[in-house]
Amino acid sequence: MILILGGTSEARALAAALVDRGDDVLSSLAGRVGDPALPAGRVRVGGFGGIAGLTSFLIENRVEAVIDATHPFAAEISANAAAATAATGSPLIRLVRPSWRGRPESGAWTWVDSVGAVLDVAPDAARPFLTTGRQSLAVFLPWADRGVVARVVDPPELDVPPAWTILRSRGPYALAGERDLMRRHAVDLLVTKDSGGTLTEAKLAAAADLGIPIVVVARPPSAAGLATVADVLAALHP
Ligand code: NAP
Repeated sequence: MILILGGTSEARALAAALVDRGDDVLSSLAGRVGDPALPAGRVRVGGFGGIAGLTSFLIENRVEAVIDATHPFAAEISANAAAATAATGSPLIRLVRPSWRGRPESGAWTWVDSVGAVLDVAPDAARPFLTTGRQSLAVFLPWADRGVVARVVDPPELDVPPAWTILRSRGPYALAGERDLMRRHAVDLLVTKDSGGTLTEAKLAAAADLGIPIVVVARPPSAAGLATVADVLAALHP
């Protein structure tokens, strides 16, 4: 059985391709979002219980290979997958969408190493557009009095300051819509993680068109020596 650690569009595309060719596939989701898009094939939901839990899971379910197709910022599950597969000797492939760092325009963006560091580099933003996800919103509470516009998939768990606007939607997004949104809300800063890939890239071009500065949170480092592929086809024929 092949275990896909999922929660991304790449993981769903991979599951579909593997199921299509007749492989025995199990996709694993963390269970964070209320109404997840479900991959083809078998699915399990919820944490494994750290490295020890994942190691036992691999042994008990005779997992032949693990494909870590989680989001580039899901650092804990990726580290656990690296440790658990090292313990069991199972092959591990990392499927991760290409970073935005290689793009020519990325030199014009302000790069920071953590979501918290965004507060230090944008002291004057009055209407920052936050696209770093629901779980990062608490970090921005020092900006409670600013006209924050935050886009999230599920409702925030914290009490949102009255000055903030919460927009709920799920990508992909198109350029015209992103430009309209930023104009409508008079956004003066775009804050994003280096999620990479194409699904949510339109906001970068929209902000550039409107002259809005961009702050990008860099990816956490991945396990050294890991076989990494950038697309589903490469994951099928590593
Ligand atoms: P994380 O911090 O790396 O993981 C925290 C814990 O959640 C893990 O230790 C594990 O619990 C459990 N977990 C995470 N992914 C799992 C999976 N695919 N299957 C089973 N358990 C999983 O993860 P996160 O950043 O909260 O992300 C959670 C999920 O959302 C991931 O699957 C990721 O692909 C997806 N996602 C994340 C982001 C993001 O920006 N972080 C964006 C889009 C989608 P145990 O230790 O108990 O095994």
